Amino acid sequence: MAALKTEVLKVDAVAPAFETVERAADVLRRGGLVAFPTETVYGLGANALDRSAVSAVFLAKGRPVNNPLIVHVAAVDQVKALVHDWPAAAQRLAETFWPGPLTLVVSRSSIVPDEVTAGRDTVAIRIPSHPVALALLGAAQTPIAAPSANRSSRLSPTSAAHVLRQLEGRIDLVLDAGPCPGGLESTVIDLTTNPPRLLRPGLIPPDRLRKVIGAIELPEDCPPPASNASDKSSAALPSPGMLPKHYAPLVPLECVEKEAERKVLYWRDRGQKVGWLTFSAPQDLGDMVIVSAMPGEPAACAHRLYGALHALETAGVDRIIAELPPHREEWLAVRDRLVRASRK
Ligand code: AMP
Ligand code: MG
Repeated sequence: MAALKTEVLKVDAVAPAFETVERAADVLRRGGLVAFPTETVYGLGANALDRSAVSAVFLAKGRPVNNPLIVHVAAVDQVKALVHDWPAAAQRLAETFWPGPLTLVVSRSSIVPDEVTAGRDTVAIRIPSHPVALALLGAAQTPIAAPSANRSSRLSPTSAAHVLRQLEGRIDLVLDAGPCPGGLESTVIDLTTNPPRLLRPGLIPPDRLRKVIGAIELPEDCPPPASNASDKSSAALPSPGMLPKHYAPLVPLECVEKEAERKVLYWRDRGQKVGWLTFSAPQDLGDMVIVSAMPGEPAACAHRLYGALHALETAGVDRIIAELPPHREEWLAVRDRLVRASRK
């Protein structure tokens, strides 16, 4: 694809300037691509009702066309035009978690282009809570289809610099509002099945969803609920081989569950520069190991995770060893991202 000049506009994360947001909205109205901050990660936005703009998102990301996009809207009344059916469970979840990092998959109306849904009869929708995202949606006056603003399968961006590393020259504009508060993608739940099915663990853990809509089905490759998982801190994820590679740094990443394993891995390829993502106390392991200490609390860890991986990638390590957090539900999303990043 021909290189574009990617413009970067700084914008206040709390009170975005009208003129800046209006310029970005204008790019969207003309069919262009705008990376913008959300409370999860930076998104790569296009007018969701403009087929060719949506196709340009897939091209810029190198995203397989069979992977559908999330449609972002400004208010619940905008949802009606996009859906064929809006179940009571969707309404309850929307009332509880929107604006916020929860994506609802429901049956779609005919105005949603096939390009957005990858030809499915469902559409994924959410209202983001980041003031810049909301201002952009308000100014654009159209739903915005936005996957994460990274090249397909690579690390998700939580800063404008991360976006530029992967997409400079491929998109029109980046709205730079500093780091994303959440740092990890939205939780995606399918409400067309009974019980509703968790499609992607994210910033909202399963238990908070159960409190609103009762039982939900977890993917087979998810760890069991906290109540019976407390003794499984060293167990392997069931069938991690089922997980496709995603969210991955450019260097090999290996996940470890136990102290003994990580020592073996560290000593195995001495002479290589190793990035070490750890939940244990940081240790000084010399010049060949860059230790990146993760907070022992899920939300704080989510906020830091991609930034730490981007930093290790740019520091030129040969490989990354990532300790996994406990095998418990509140850690589901962080574990999911690390295990996927480790797939070959
Ligand atoms: P991202 O690329 O980071 O925006 O992730 C979007 C996620 O939502 C992916 O896991 C998609 O597969 C999922 N998704 C989007 N639309 C649908 C849909 N209609 N049905 C099921 N999953 C969807
Ligand atoms: Mg993504």
